Amino acid sequence: MSETPYSYDAPASQALFDRAATVTPGGVNSPVRAFRAVGGTPRFMVSGTGPYLTDADGREYVDLVCSWGPMILGHAHPEVIAAVQDAVSRGTSFGTPGEGEVALAEEMVARIGPLEQVRLVSSGTEATMSAIRLARGFTQRTKVIKFAGCYHGHVDSLLAAAGSGVATFALPDTPGVTGAQAGDTIVLPYNDLEAVHEAFHRHPGEIACVITEASPGNMGVVPPRPGFNQGLKDACSKNGALYISDEVMTGFRTSRAGWFGIDGVEPDLMTFGKVMGGGFPAAAFGGRQDVMAHLAPAGPVYQAGTLSGNPIATAAGLAQLRLLDDAAYAKVDAVSARIQSLVTEALTKEGVAHRVQNASNMFSVFFTDREVRDYEDAKKQESFRFTAFFHSLLADGVYLPPSSFESWFVSTAHDERAVQKIADALPAAARAAAEAQA
Ligand code: PLP
Repeated sequence: MSETPYSYDAPASQALFDRAATVTPGGVNSPVRAFRAVGGTPRFMVSGTGPYLTDADGREYVDLVCSWGPMILGHAHPEVIAAVQDAVSRGTSFGTPGEGEVALAEEMVARIGPLEQVRLVSSGTEATMSAIRLARGFTQRTKVIKFAGCYHGHVDSLLAAAGSGVATFALPDTPGVTGAQAGDTIVLPYNDLEAVHEAFHRHPGEIACVITEASPGNMGVVPPRPGFNQGLKDACSKNGALYISDEVMTGFRTSRAGWFGIDGVEPDLMTFGKVMGGGFPAAAFGGRQDVMAHLAPAGPVYQAGTLSGNPIATAAGLAQLRLLDDAAYAKVDAVSARIQSLVTEALTKEGVAHRVQNASNMFSVFFTDREVRDYEDAKKQESFRFTAFFHSLLADGVYLPPSSFESWFVSTAHDERAVQKIADALPAAARAAAEAQA
């Protein structure tokens, strides 16, 4: 299908991609998987073990995507698999309450102080969509502040990322989202508290909530500047709005209590996904009990799901969370730091301008010599260097996210052999980045 210099070495994946494209738009079920940003053939994976993935052509890769975050213990962790097998042997879905979902909610609430109650859902998108509805229902207000470059799933009103300047009303980013759906979304530059204050000033009594990634990873890794999240929380409290911290990516990954465990800023509502599902479709939103009490059936704000709290997903998530103790996080942090310094070393040696930015163990590489503080900065990077860097690593068996606007993820399973494979592949990749032409 895709005619690029990179197509030749994955014939089995290419054949599957061609088949897929006839029955699925673009051949994939989530756009970034199609490799459009970097070109070439998306690898169709057939199995994963520990830090490795094996593709349809039988090639093994060190995985630095980890299913976009969830696989923090590596692939097919024996205890997670055993929990899944045990759950599945008792049936796959009941459409009734079950103990597994109570235990998962208890584990989450026990880890995060301000998380008094949670509602389980099946995707991060559902979690943010429901949290926004709840915030609007609770405050009886309509407008939502979000930040450019922050991704909260494909919720209509949150796909409005365009717009510049203070309190610009967003234009929808995609056909299919109406002006009405996006019109109540105010998109502001990330890390800009002044813009937030200005927006509250312009819309007194109208703003239901501010939603932000707890520490953004969807424009590459761009952590909040010191005091930014606290400033958001304070502005919300002062103006009667709710502060929603989207921890779908950071939750139970950046520490045992997610980003809250790092900055300690107490959100009114939080959203979760990825790690808490152990590789299954489980997600959640939750927070203050008095706010959550407005949710059906306790209160009037409707929200529901046929597969919410699914017994297999909750068993996998609970098994994974129970294995994530301080030692596990120390391990993930250490291997992440190690890989970050290997990347820096290789790129520096080839004289390639770059910034490795991290938020705890999440990190990404920007091909620029400036600090990246917001989406505008992120867009200024030399992405063509990333393309060359990515393909060189892929050819040498290292699987990066196929876009320079994504976080890299590691796991407790990334051992010495995996790190060595990355170290061996980096010099050629850094050379390729240095030689790349726009
Ligand atoms: N929020 C954040 C911060 C995310 O990173 C994502 C997905 O990457 C989502 C929400 C949406 O989650 P999902 O893809 O499970 O719908």
